[in-house]
Amino acid sequence: MIVGGGAAGTAAAAALRERGFGGRVLLIDRETDAGYDRTVLSKFVIAGEMPPEEVPSLRDEAFYREQRIERINAEVTSLDAASKTLRLADGQSLPYDAALLATGGTPKPLRLPGADLPQVFVLRSKNHAQQILDNAKPGQRAVIIGDSFIAMESASSLRQYGLDVTVLAHQPVPFARQFGETVGKAILALHEANGVVFQTQGEATQIEGTIKVEAVLLDNGQRLPADLVLVGIGVSPATGPFADLLQEKDHSLRVDGGMRVTDGLWAAGDIATFPLSGRPLRIEHWRLAQQQARIAAANMLGGDEHYLDVPYFWTWHFGKNYDYLGHAEAWDEVEFKGDPFNPPFIGLFGKNGVVTAAVACEEERTMAMLAERMKQPLSVDEAWRLIRE
Ligand SMILES: Cc1cc2nc3c(=O)[nH]c(=O)nc-3n(C[C@H](O)[C@H](O)[C@H](O)COP(=O)(O)OP(=O)(O)OC[C@H]3O[C@@H](n4cnc5c(N)ncnc54)[C@H](O)[C@@H]3O)c2cc1C
Repeated sequence: MIVGGGAAGTAAAAALRERGFGGRVLLIDRETDAGYDRTVLSKFVIAGEMPPEEVPSLRDEAFYREQRIERINAEVTSLDAASKTLRLADGQSLPYDAALLATGGTPKPLRLPGADLPQVFVLRSKNHAQQILDNAKPGQRAVIIGDSFIAMESASSLRQYGLDVTVLAHQPVPFARQFGETVGKAILALHEANGVVFQTQGEATQIEGTIKVEAVLLDNGQRLPADLVLVGIGVSPATGPFADLLQEKDHSLRVDGGMRVTDGLWAAGDIATFPLSGRPLRIEHWRLAQQQARIAAANMLGGDEHYLDVPYFWTWHFGKNYDYLGHAEAWDEVEFKGDPFNPPFIGLFGKNGVVTAAVACEEERTMAMLAERMKQPLSVDEAWRLIRE
């Protein structure tokens, strides 16, 4: 039984069959469409470059049929791990032998007066993207609340779609925590060169409007006129139905190195806090969700696999793709080859002489090489030698 047919759930279903499992595989998702690539929603769909119905499916219909993966369009409302039973919104109970929970994230809602106006959006699903497209018109004013990856990608896309875009940012330099100040400033400069306006002073206190959004009011008295508002302030693990399980402070599920929650139960993707280099972490990356899911699938079949890879993600702004490898929360050195303000470039973050992360634009081959080499501790000196080879 797999709950959630997104990045992790779909990868797990496929992996179960690849590994020779011959029993029943049920894949439950509340979205009607089969799993699709949600990463394109903020990059191409709301830029008007890819209609929602052309968003690539992760697997075609024939795959589910041939692999005997039974897709069930339903909402899971509760789980009883002791009796190994799931309950659906229609009251049905489904017993399982082994289950993987992969329900992803729910966008954090804006809790302000006016946040329920019809032109206040979040972006997680094709439906959300469709709602944004149904409302956004070139020439309108969009205010993006937040400077998360989805917020910033959406700023780029809506700008490309022809809207005037203001980002109400939480930090002076976007992504400084992940990419460091220099790359953050370079991405900020790219947005500003394309006409995105950054507002770094003030917090939103109200969305003004009676039947339609008119402005975002800030606590410093400023008023940002708006026709639509997109809220990109992060996601919460979608673990509401699993209230009986022990949850972390952020409501994620703690798993062991094999993605196991408890007897007969595994979790993967955005809802999982897993040990990375011995530290519990929750990381919201597409590829990581798939890797974790494959590990969970192997272990559901009696295997003993652990995560040994290097986390990777990418982000897209005004036609430029930025790749990131590893996971650095702190570093004592950062050095670049090339200029982040004028790609191509690659930057390495080091701690105690060892590479903890790499960020790059237009350096795919080098990053692919580093992805392999960083599976073992790689010294900063050795990494630069390999890069310059
Ligand atoms: C717009 C956007 C752009 C992104 N861009 C990038 C990117 O460029 N790079 C990157 O690395 N990551 C990106 N991400 C993050 C990435 O998509 C997630 O980390 C990844 O999808 C996590 O996979 P998952 O399987 O945990 O969750 P999801 O892919 O979200 O799948 C969860 C599924 O569970 C279903 N579900 C939830 N609750 C229930 C329930 N109770 N009952 C039944 N079904 C349920 C949902 O409908 C959903 O289909 C992006 C995310 C978004 C939204």
